[in-house]
Amino acid sequence: MAYIICEPCIGVKDTACVDVCPVDCIHPRKDEAAFAAADMLYIHPDECIDCGACVPACPVAAIFVLDETPRKWEAFIAKNREYYS
Ligand code: SF4
Repeated sequence: MAYIICEPCIGVKDTACVDVCPVDCIHPRKDEAAFAAADMLYIHPDECIDCGACVPACPVAAIFVLDETPRKWEAFIAKNREYYS
């Protein structure tokens, strides 16, 4: 299982989540070339260790544990995975 970043991140890309993630599985980071063009940030589904640290760090409540992803944002489960494929 993994955590999923959903629609509220689009256009925000705050990166507070990146700063608290202990395994660096949220990308693109501000220091990566892809950051400027990215609409939002994405969690690597296989590298996330389900610690939950990113959830309270997000200022726009964009992050959910997989099983609790709001139905209206279910497409973001695939969007997060696709970023890394
Ligand atoms: Fe990183 Fe933990 Fe959030 Fe997974 S749940 S993206 S490991 S901070």
